[in-house]
Amino acid sequence: MTTCWVPGADGSPYGVQTLPYGAFRHSGGAGSPGEPGGSSRAGGQRLGVRIADFVLDLRGAEDADLILAGGALCQPTLDEFLALGRAQWTTVRRRIVELLTESEHRAAVEPLLVPLAQVDLVMPFTVGDYVDFYSSEQHASNVGQIFRPGQPLLTPNWRHLPIGYHGRAGTVVVSGTPIVRPCGQRRSSAGPVFGPSGRLDIEAEVGFVVGVPTRLGDRVPTGRFADHVFGVTLVNDWSARDIQAWEYQPLGPFLGKSFATSVSPWIVPLEALDHAWVPAPEQDPPVLDYLVESARLGLDLSIVVEWNGTKVSAPPFAGMYWTPAQQLAHLTVNGAALRTGDLYASGTVSGARRDQVGSFLELTWGGTEPIKLDDGSERTFLEDGDTVVITATAPGPAGATIGLGEVTGTVLPAS
Ligand code: CA
Repeated sequence: MTTCWVPGADGSPYGVQTLPYGAFRHSGGAGSPGEPGGSSRAGGQRLGVRIADFVLDLRGAEDADLILAGGALCQPTLDEFLALGRAQWTTVRRRIVELLTESEHRAAVEPLLVPLAQVDLVMPFTVGDYVDFYSSEQHASNVGQIFRPGQPLLTPNWRHLPIGYHGRAGTVVVSGTPIVRPCGQRRSSAGPVFGPSGRLDIEAEVGFVVGVPTRLGDRVPTGRFADHVFGVTLVNDWSARDIQAWEYQPLGPFLGKSFATSVSPWIVPLEALDHAWVPAPEQDPPVLDYLVESARLGLDLSIVVEWNGTKVSAPPFAGMYWTPAQQLAHLTVNGAALRTGDLYASGTVSGARRDQVGSFLELTWGGTEPIKLDDGSERTFLEDGDTVVITATAPGPAGATIGLGEVTGTVLPAS
């Protein structure tokens, strides 16, 4: 393992093996103490890379010619950097590793480290189009049992294509953004009624951030996944189950999902996940040619879901039936163009056991089996004031751990 001179980095899930990208502002108003360089830093949004409990100020690094990225790292969002492509992403990452591990750079770089406690993390990229898939067989089966009892667990198309829908990019928000309980229409015995959702839920998911766009008409074969996808972020696809249940047939999710989707402030580049690829489950029946992969690989991410501080679930991402490369191939097979900043999410990640499911719908089996939190209270769905934190880790090189950041949100009463 490469040794990093930053205090606390070696052995941290945010050592030089990880280096996730984000955007930040100095918290506490203008002119935070200890800012390197001093001038013109107040208030602006800047790009950074996390190392241990610090953010490396990438704008400062590019301004000082410590990193050369054509100005892309001096922008307020990752958008320009995302469009540069794999060769540039890799070059910049290698350079950041050099800066953080070679002692000769310490004097120049150390003033560019900002303690995490002194920053506010903000949305790091402009979300282009947002697509949400439905790729966990266990989740799809569970939802089938709960929403469509007595019918086949999976719809006839489920094993033939990665089912998805286009979501609402404009309501993708960064971790920490409060989630106002949505109002909507739902079914009651007396007919449809309007009001605050009574069955507000989460969906623990993994998101993929597109960097390199395509032209209308292009397809992205499964083997070209890494040419287009920059990295990975955690996603909480908040879901109002009562609104969803009433509206979703025949066109799928709509207002039950579009009120908010939270993402981690950290985008973990694919390079950090080189050691996390594992064989994906066998697919039966065989898939059509455009979905075939030379090696079927999924990511061995271990997700943890905490509800008001109680760990309630540990969904395993490695068991997902459809891989991110298949999802991208399917998303583009009709010629739909990709844009820089497109985000596609895996769908709820659920394993076989009840303590491995990625939604409270499944955890409490449609609200019929309440669970007890550590404070002794019981829950079926989210109550006002509840906080959910989703984190994840992956295996890194030489036994190291890769941290995938966290996505958190607290529920506020309906307005
Ligand atoms: Ca979802």
